[in-house]
Amino acid sequence: MATGEASSKKKYFYNFNYIDPVAETIHSNIKMIISDQIIQNIGSNIEKPENSIKIDLKNQWILPGLINNHCHLSGSGKPLPKFINNDRLVKFIQKRKIFKRIMYNDMKKSAMTALMSGTTTVRSLGEADLSVFDLRDKINSGEELGARIFTAGKAIALKADHGEVISIEITNIEEAKRAVNFLINRGADCIKIMATGAVTGAKTLDSAGKAELSPEIINVICDIAHKHKLKVTAHSEGNEGALNSISGGIDSLEHGSNYDDDILKQMKEKQIGTIPTLAAGHAYSNHSRKETGLTEIEVLNDHRVVKNIDIGLRNAIKFGGILIGAGDDAGIPLVYHGKIAQEITMLHNEYGLSTIKCIQCATINNAKIMGREDKLGSLDNGKFADFIVFAPDRNPLENVDLLFHPDSVYKEGVKIR
Ligand SMILES: [Zn+2]
Repeated sequence: MATGEASSKKKYFYNFNYIDPVAETIHSNIKMIISDQIIQNIGSNIEKPENSIKIDLKNQWILPGLINNHCHLSGSGKPLPKFINNDRLVKFIQKRKIFKRIMYNDMKKSAMTALMSGTTTVRSLGEADLSVFDLRDKINSGEELGARIFTAGKAIALKADHGEVISIEITNIEEAKRAVNFLINRGADCIKIMATGAVTGAKTLDSAGKAELSPEIINVICDIAHKHKLKVTAHSEGNEGALNSISGGIDSLEHGSNYDDDILKQMKEKQIGTIPTLAAGHAYSNHSRKETGLTEIEVLNDHRVVKNIDIGLRNAIKFGGILIGAGDDAGIPLVYHGKIAQEITMLHNEYGLSTIKCIQCATINNAKIMGREDKLGSLDNGKFADFIVFAPDRNPLENVDLLFHPDSVYKEGVKIR
């Protein structure tokens, strides 16, 4: 208990209803003490510390800050300009100083948009520029304002005909080791690999789900990352890629595929999370090629991938005990930052998860997948005081659409808006 400790920094929040995604229940008339960004104590019988600032939350609903488990801050969501498909031009531009500055500012904007919407933490899984590390550090030190960033820096991909902008390309085990060590030394919070081909950049009909990195290479990457206590997540849009990733020691699968019982059994046993990125598939399927800027081949690949993700997610829900996270792939064409509520509402409306279960996906499940449940994902002693607030007549458990517009957002105990 903090009672009696005099500190002008301490804040005492009282009179709120905490929607607890871990216990799957509402705790009424809760009090919370925050000191130096961290929750020192939360519960119903907590006294106001001396010299603390008293904040009446007026019987409002409080949720932990939302987490977007898959985004690309260097993309805004606006369809990609055509030159992005020109590898040589991109490589030329990437080396220019001006590119760095533009990318830094774009990423800063994305992190700010996310924060204002109630997404207090994002996991960035491959950026066009490594200045994402500087942005992360500046946000952590308070020099910049934005959602807290956990970043892979760049993804690691087999040298191929896609993904060049956000990936380090490799061809063998030695290069894989070099890439993962480089990213770790640079300050990566997690490692992202491309286990299969992707929709964006697909140049043949079946390339999106095609297995790319071998289980041996994946294994080497996972071993090094795990020694540094970092999680590894795999872009995987096909079952062969999922199996390669699982046998290589992966911690989570991005996007997904038509998981069968064998894959699901292993995912459950090893607590391998899946992040279905429904908003991404949705965006491509519901817009014309003119709007998305995708090629005809990319669209055909997308249809196949989206269908398989749908089957896999339904299988996972039916199977039970699978750790499902929420990330929308914001930054890719037509998926804008600050809309993680869309992913949450889709899990509810289209896959029948209860409101508390889909909130769980975007809070505590995401924290577990990131390996950060000690600091994120719920409001508990020792965790960051990140939370979003809804008026007494706007209970998000009764209407999940309310998540699009929280009434206020707090990060580390500070009211952002
Ligand atoms: Zn992505």
